[in-house]
Amino acid sequence: MYEEYGINQNLEKLALEVEEEVKEELKKVDIICEKNSIKVLKAFQENALSDIHFGMTTGYGYGDIGRDVIEKIYAQIFKAEDALVRSQFISGTHALTVALFSLLRPGDTMLSINGKPYDTLDEVIGIVENQSSLKAYGINYRQIDLVNNDFNDEEIQETLKREKIKLIEIQRSRGYANRKSLTLDKVERVIKKIREVDQDVIIMIDNCYCEFVGEKEPIEVGADIAVGSLIKNLGGGIAPNGAYIVGKKELVELAGERLTAPGEGKEVGPTLGMNKSILQGLFFAPSVVASSLKTAIFTSKILEKMGYQLDPKYNEERADIVQTIAFGNEKDLVKYCQGIQMGSPVDSNSIPEAWDMPGYTDKVIMAAGSFTQGSSIELSCDGPIRPPYIAFQQGGLTYPYGKLGVLKAIQNMTN
Ligand SMILES: *Cc1c(COP(=O)(O)O)cnc(C)c1O
Repeated sequence: MYEEYGINQNLEKLALEVEEEVKEELKKVDIICEKNSIKVLKAFQENALSDIHFGMTTGYGYGDIGRDVIEKIYAQIFKAEDALVRSQFISGTHALTVALFSLLRPGDTMLSINGKPYDTLDEVIGIVENQSSLKAYGINYRQIDLVNNDFNDEEIQETLKREKIKLIEIQRSRGYANRKSLTLDKVERVIKKIREVDQDVIIMIDNCYCEFVGEKEPIEVGADIAVGSLIKNLGGGIAPNGAYIVGKKELVELAGERLTAPGEGKEVGPTLGMNKSILQGLFFAPSVVASSLKTAIFTSKILEKMGYQLDPKYNEERADIVQTIAFGNEKDLVKYCQGIQMGSPVDSNSIPEAWDMPGYTDKVIMAAGSFTQGSSIELSCDGPIRPPYIAFQQGGLTYPYGKLGVLKAIQNMTN
């Protein structure tokens, strides 16, 4: 079957074997997918989504009923009081920045309880100097590291008793850190611990890559606000850009006033014809996330059989769509990433090379042949060139395309 696609018979045989061995895991993914599909469909129906909502506004964007219904649907899916879902957010980083700047004031302290947050927040927080950082505005930053891939409940409680903390940030996905992603069970437990000693601190979740991986979302386990990108899970590969913030009404309102202007807030923001894409992307999102998870499970099993170190293991509980592969040598990492590029629908003729990216200490190789620039719900893979030569792979709009991309990568690596 795969021969005309350049996959040799041994690899095809191995792929069939692997697929048989991961059958049960794939079935579990399908069940979660159906539960999340019900959640989405009900939200569309109960908010009376109609053709009229696919219209658009321009200019200030007053009275955009499509935008309003999108935000009601998001709020319902997250079981949140309110939502801000906008294409005026340039990225997940931008939405996280808006949330942090809207909630923190000079003299306040934010606390990260999973070690250092995602790399792009370094300059936002002021871990790396920037004249526009939170630090430059007099906002303090503290962090507590994870212990054995879990929150340090005791130190968190001690810190909260000792110091006034305004906001706690929890990043569930591992980013480029050497740790496991944080399941919602762990997040739920730590939130209970936090609330034992502090009723007021704002608990904010960086939810990137985690939406629809499980049955629940962070607000349901006690978080006050959650943030994510639409060119990841919830955009379903359809939304062309944007991000969301969901949570308590007064917090979402503050974020709205920071995204636009005080006094205008959520009332403005033209949708310029994006409403249908955002809604259709959300409609596909449970299936697209499921496809990404299946691609990750397949990858984990087949590369484990080939002797590499995988995290998570194929049958381990997942908190996000990220799969890491420790190749142990530079050549395999590079060849694999180049093969992912070859297996992409767009720019399959380009050959990515490791290069000195701004903000990184080591060279990084990045493979992404996506319809939407930088979209990582589409199959993509990247890794810093340093031992143990780990690739971070995520995405796969459909499972067949995801699997074909991975097989192309393995074929390229073993040729
Ligand atoms: C992707 C990501 C971000 C930033 O999102 P961008 O859209 O790339 O700016 C933040 N946090 C985590 C955990 C992410 O995975």
